[in-house]
Amino acid sequence: MVKGDGLLKYSFPPPHPFNSARAVRFWEELVRQDLGEVMVEPELADEEALELFHKKSHVDSVREASSLGRGYLDEGDTPAFKGVFEAAEFAVGSTLACVEKTLGGEVDHGFNPVGGLHHARRDASAGFCVFNDIGVAIELLRSRGIKRVLYVDIDVHHGDGVFYPYEFDSGVFIFDVHESGRFLYPGTGSEGETGGGPAEGTKVNIPLLPGEGDETIKEILPRLEEFAARARPEFVILQCGADSLAGDPIGGLKFSEKFHSSVARALHNVADKACNGRLVALGGGGYSPDNCARAWTSVVKELVGSQDN
Ligand SMILES: [Zn+2]
Repeated sequence: MVKGDGLLKYSFPPPHPFNSARAVRFWEELVRQDLGEVMVEPELADEEALELFHKKSHVDSVREASSLGRGYLDEGDTPAFKGVFEAAEFAVGSTLACVEKTLGGEVDHGFNPVGGLHHARRDASAGFCVFNDIGVAIELLRSRGIKRVLYVDIDVHHGDGVFYPYEFDSGVFIFDVHESGRFLYPGTGSEGETGGGPAEGTKVNIPLLPGEGDETIKEILPRLEEFAARARPEFVILQCGADSLAGDPIGGLKFSEKFHSSVARALHNVADKACNGRLVALGGGGYSPDNCARAWTSVVKELVGSQDN
């Protein structure tokens, strides 16, 4: 578990919904539920790490916007503020710290509540995501000889910033449940998008209609279990966005935290069987701090639960 002030810097100025209250409320809930697992301080990603995934031109433009501290990093969703570069380096570096400690066997699982920034592209920020910590993590895993990665995304938004860079990559298995792009940003992730060329069949997109929720779990879970078994992953990444919960001010799905806990339980099982437990979970979206606390705590509970340690 990454916890510390470095992660609170990734907070857009009011009234932006992506702010530090989300992580604060979650950490409070962890303490309240006595889930004080090993705490790790946030770490900064260096630019060499960022450029494993991002184009240098994008890294340079965020650095420049960060010193000016005004304007937008995209077309109007992701504002620049003074220090946004360092804030984003903390978000990415903390995910990488989880990956490194998991790979090194120091811990079985990691959690970065300010990770899971799944809309940023190689060459641009998008949708509240300055840099894409997931893309950087996948490239880091690749550089360490990991060939098969399972990425599961249950944020209300489609993880376009992870899907498209790896659409034709047969080593990155993607399972993404989200509110249909017909109704919600970023508009992508239809059922027919299953991977291209040699990667055909290595991607699953499950778009849901506004108002759908827990009643779909009984159909989604068996598909996830079958897909994950076929993936035979060497590393598992879960983006457990809390914006798929009922009551989110942006998303239109109606899940309870039962969705997050059942997916985490299934993946915990997969990771234990396939790859010595190596699983890193990332907070993703979620714009009701109470929902973030509820959803993420339910994931942590599953990861520290009985099956190993
Ligand atoms: Zn989202």
